[in-house]
Parts: sequence; C-alpha cells; structure tokens
Amino acid sequence: MSAGVCAASPGTAGLLIDPGRSTPEGLEEYRSRGGYTGLEQVLARGAGWAAEVVARARLRGRGPLGRPVAERWRRVAAGPSAARYVIGNGAESLSISRKDRYLMANHPHRVLEGLLIAARAVGAREAYLYVRGDSPESLAGLRSALEEAARAGLVGEASVTGVQVRLQPSATGPVSGEETAVIDALEGLEGRPQIRPPDPEASGLFGQPTLVQNVETLAAVAAVFREGLDRHLALGTADEPGSALFTVTGAVRRPGVYELPLGTRLADLLRLAGADPAAVRAVLPGGLASPPLWPQELDVPLSWADLGRAGSVLGNRTVIVLGPEASLPVQFAEIMQVLAEGSCGQCQGCANGTRALAGYLAALAGLAGGTEGGAPAALPAFADPAELLAYARHQAHLLTRRAGICPYPESVGRAMLRALEVFCRVSPVR
Ligand code: SF4
Repeated sequence: MSAGVCAASPGTAGLLIDPGRSTPEGLEEYRSRGGYTGLEQVLARGAGWAAEVVARARLRGRGPLGRPVAERWRRVAAGPSAARYVIGNGAESLSISRKDRYLMANHPHRVLEGLLIAARAVGAREAYLYVRGDSPESLAGLRSALEEAARAGLVGEASVTGVQVRLQPSATGPVSGEETAVIDALEGLEGRPQIRPPDPEASGLFGQPTLVQNVETLAAVAAVFREGLDRHLALGTADEPGSALFTVTGAVRRPGVYELPLGTRLADLLRLAGADPAAVRAVLPGGLASPPLWPQELDVPLSWADLGRAGSVLGNRTVIVLGPEASLPVQFAEIMQVLAEGSCGQCQGCANGTRALAGYLAALAGLAGGTEGGAPAALPAFADPAELLAYARHQAHLLTRRAGICPYPESVGRAMLRALEVFCRVSPVR
C-alpha cells in the first residue's frame, strides 16, 4: 500500500517499518530479519519474563492515550476468568491517518507477532484483528500473514502458541476504534462506545478480561523482543523510549508516513515533510480533534508529556499542517463541521453540542449555511461577534465537561477552545 512518502530516521530504520516499502513483507523475509525470534523467546521463557521485558522497556501504547503496556497486560492477566481475549485494533478511525493501514498492509507479520506475544503474556487463547473494513490492502496483508503463520504452526489451537486468531473487518467512523466500540462491534452489536466502568481489562469481550491494543503498539512489542531492549531504550526520551509512526498531511511537499524517535522536534518533522516551520500558520499534531499549535510553538518535542505541557496532545499522531494560504477561521470551521459529523449521536450532549459549536464557528468564519439541524438557524440573533464568540467558548467548555460517555466531546471541546484563539486575532472581536 502506498502512503505517500514513507521515511524513517537512520536510528529507527527497520524497527516498525521499512522506508519506502510498497509490498507486503512475507514470512520468509520477516524471519530472515529476526522475525518471530521474540515470540520463540517468550514461548521458552514464559509470560512473567515477557511482562518484565515490556515493563523494563517502559513501552507506552501507541493509541491516543499512550497508556503503559505493562500495566494493561498485568490487569488482564490478573483477571479472575480463565477466558481472556486480545484484540489488535486496526480500525484507524481517522480517515486521513495512514500509519496503521501502511503497517498492516506492508508489515503484517510484525503486527501478528506482537499480537501472539501479547496473547501469551496475558494468557489468552483467542485473539482478534479488527481491521478498517475499507482497506483491502490491510485486510489482504493480514489475511496472507495469518495463512502463512498457520502453515508454519504459529497460530491455531494445535500450534506452538495455541492461540486462535480471527480477522474481522471494522466499521469506519471517528469513534469506531474506541476500544469499547471495538468490543461492541465484535459482539455483533452496533459498534458504539459503551459506558465505563467496567474497563475492558476487567470485563470486555463477552464479559471477559480483554486487552485491546492498537496495531502499532503490537508492532512495537514485536520490535522490542526482536531487536532487543538496548536498541529500543537508545531511542526516544527517558520516560518515553522507542520510535513511533506519524502521518503527515496538509500543506507539506512530502505527505506520508514517518517513523521517528519519540521526542523528535515537531519543526524537524515538518522540515522532513517539506514544510518551512516559519511559514506554516498552525499545526494540529494529533489529528482533527487536537488543539492547534501556533508557529512560535513548533519546536516542541513529539512526546505525550511535552505536547501536554504545550497545551496539545500527541493523539493519533496525524500531523495536519495548515499552510500560509490557509484562512484559519475557515479551516477551523470546516474541521469543526467534520468533528460534529463524527459524533456517533447516542449522547445528546455530544451530538447537540458539537453541532451547535460547528454552527458558531461557521458563523464566526462568515461561512454561509452551517450545520443541519444545529445552531445556524438561531445565529442571526447574534449580531454582535463578541457575543457569538462568547457563546462558542461557552459551548466548547460544556463539551469538555463529560458531555458524553466517551472522550470524544472532551477532545473536541479542548481542541476548539484553542482554535477559537484565532477568531480573536483575525476579527475585530477582543
Ligand atoms: S460521547 Fe459522542 S461519540 Fe462518544 S458515545 Fe456519546 S455520542 Fe458517541
């Protein structure tokens, strides 16, 4: 699968992806590069050893929250039930992200090895690969890898791992990859986020302890065992070692998927992708629902901690660059429209709130129309732009206060509170 430019810094090459690759890495090739030696070690040395290695790696999940992998494995392994599940999450909810699809299409065995290691570590005999349903390359890559692994005796009840793996196409949509939505879909339901607690680690698929891990996390697990702790720990920051994948899109000359050590400066990633950091107007570092960073803030290291201190998030690591030609009010209004359409609609506070906020931003940006069924019909009442901006801010604040059962509205509210700063700068509103 082509994902535009695909590049890696010298220190990361071969860890998660091969730069520039456009054909799937088969079993023979992967094995010639050390593939499945990590799984062999885990089978020989046991689940306790595997958990210890992941803890020493200080590996964080490559999903939006970056939760420590070792802690999640421990919780699932400690579950009271003998039946446990592991789910490789390849739903890649944000359609403009490409990194997970690139990984699944071109390096399916890296994902599969990580899944098998995780299953052995938590004591699961059944695992699922939940893969974005509109990505035939990802599905084909993983299907082929599963067939090769079955023939080699690596997957299946009677295999060396004893782990059965099923491939399941996912729904597509902004919250389809939320882990309780993934479980809901695998249970044959609507695939919508569910109320917590319980967390999936305690009671997930079919009410059993369940580990849901992003496919990039699984490839990172395989890399730690295949390449060794020293190589992993030599990359990244002290608290967040290793490398990660970034999708870069928008006003750059070389959009695509990049593998970089965590802690790489955002400005350096922009230069790699062919953008002049001094010339961009804003960057959303973690997808559409991430708070924008302004030009003077682009020297920030790409880590969970550093982006948090900068007022944004690493999110799903889809770096969206808004260039010099962009009208920021119009772009943020359009982004908010997409975010409003992304609410799955089961919580009124989220569905109505995101729609209303989209209407306010559209009006502030001077866009005709706005959103269907939301605030635009009432907007002419706000003749004063300052009043309109105040309502927009209030609505964004409301979204940050548990407007629904999943984190989506909170992310949207936080992102838009920062985006609204631009309306103060470009309009007479103060
Ligand atoms: S908070 Fe929004 S996206 Fe999340 S479940 Fe509720 S309606 Fe759906």
